[in-house]
Amino acid sequence: MDHIGQIFRPPSEAESLLLQISLGCSHNKCTYCAMYDHPDQGFRIKKWDTIAADIEEAASWSRQHRPIRRVFLCDGDALILPQDFLVKVLTLLQEKIPTVRRVGIYGDARSILRKTPEQLAQLKELALGIVYHGVESGDDEVLRQVNKGSTAAEAIESAHLLKEAGLRHSVMVMLGLAGHLKSRQHAEATAKILTAMDPPFVGALTTTLIPGTPLFDQAERDEFQLPDPWGMLEELRIIIRDSQFTRCRFHSNHASNHLPLSLNLPTDRHKALAQLDLVLDRHDGNDLKPEYLRGL
Ligand code: SF4
Repeated sequence: MDHIGQIFRPPSEAESLLLQISLGCSHNKCTYCAMYDHPDQGFRIKKWDTIAADIEEAASWSRQHRPIRRVFLCDGDALILPQDFLVKVLTLLQEKIPTVRRVGIYGDARSILRKTPEQLAQLKELALGIVYHGVESGDDEVLRQVNKGSTAAEAIESAHLLKEAGLRHSVMVMLGLAGHLKSRQHAEATAKILTAMDPPFVGALTTTLIPGTPLFDQAERDEFQLPDPWGMLEELRIIIRDSQFTRCRFHSNHASNHLPLSLNLPTDRHKALAQLDLVLDRHDGNDLKPEYLRGL
């Protein structure tokens, strides 16, 4: 497979074929993000011949070894690629690897809202099943500060559009993204936006300061103070307490998180709040994941 630069995928796509159809992220301006800083990863669509060869190679592997059921289309926000191109990729996948049941992709409000309901429905017909969307915060002030490139209202609108098309929506939010001073404001607004979006999957990640990013530099200049682990857990507590979901698989078990939780909400709300209260009351570092086990 032709993989250029570091390949990122959601944890739930661990078993998927990772098909890189574009390089980098078309936005690439979020102040906390260092995902696509490889010199070769200025945003571009990969050559069709390369993608077609990768699909052929995967089809042959699928026939000889184990049927491929899931595919994840990389990189950053591949949903922003032109509709015709995505249709061409999904059509060839179906033709060459008929065992594929679900295709996943990263998208954000900018890329989702560029598609019409008919276009999203067309992608769904061709086995696109889930869109992973970094919403990060429900607070427009925070979104502006981190240069997210979209608003809370746009994220909500994109959730409705995906639901209408029958596509699953997996939403990521970031604990600590507003810094210490706006921590509560960020958590409350994030609970509100999650309620309005009502996605079936949510992942709460912990903001990590990565050298080379604008957010890291702000922290070095003391213009941004990351909440401590207890502050992060307070945010998580507010989000779990205040979000209202129809039915949501809620994870805070990303490598970056201090206290791994995997919940069905609303069913597990009381249990999770009791656990968080206990950990917050004890204030004992032994209850948290050791730093050396935390990653990005
Ligand atoms: S949209 Fe995602 S990949 Fe692109 S810069 Fe922001 S966080 Fe990074």
